[in-house]
Amino acid sequence: MSASRDLQYKCPYCGQEFTITVYDTVTASKDPDLRDRVLSGDLFQHTCDHCHKEFMIQNPLLYSDKEHKFVLYLNQNDIGTNLTEFAKPLVSQGYRLRRCATIQELVEKIEVFEDGMNDAAVELAKYDSFIEFLENKKGKAEDVTSVAYEHTKDDVMKIIVHTGDRGMSFLIPVNMIEEELKTEEDLYKINDEDFPLINQDWIISVFKQSDGQA
Ligand SMILES: [Zn+2]
Repeated sequence: MSASRDLQYKCPYCGQEFTITVYDTVTASKDPDLRDRVLSGDLFQHTCDHCHKEFMIQNPLLYSDKEHKFVLYLNQNDIGTNLTEFAKPLVSQGYRLRRCATIQELVEKIEVFEDGMNDAAVELAKYDSFIEFLENKKGKAEDVTSVAYEHTKDDVMKIIVHTGDRGMSFLIPVNMIEEELKTEEDLYKINDEDFPLINQDWIISVFKQSDGQA
């Protein structure tokens, strides 16, 4: 079941209070319309009743998808161990559990898991695309604003390296990335019970660990 609650919110622009509805949980299979609103970002978008300015509010959200077997926890902060008891039975049923630090990470993770993709493979493909972008002298590292997963078609991942409002596509064969993951299986190991962050910081920490071992 999806669950929401109303709370009083002070507008960051005009300082007046108004009521907003925030969601604590979204169950994708039961509420496909809410799933759509998460993906479009609309669920986090609020408009002030007084000055009519629009802004985003990122509140902690537990997002679950029974069909694709994953649970995502949107929270900027580390959650510690309080979800372990909740996590164990889900992991034994084959669920993938992740924490997402930002709304963008949450949206991308939903797209990745709905595509049936391994998110570690996606992070590696994003990293490889970034390196290729630099090596081909398409731009400088500091110009890159984001590296995003687009989709997977015919076992080829499409990754886009964004520099401001421009984007360059990279096509990465899935089997190539799967091979790369296999060579360092232990390094890429994910413990779902911890609700790990599997993002850019994660892949960088994996490489640092790898360097330390060499
Ligand atoms: Zn306002």
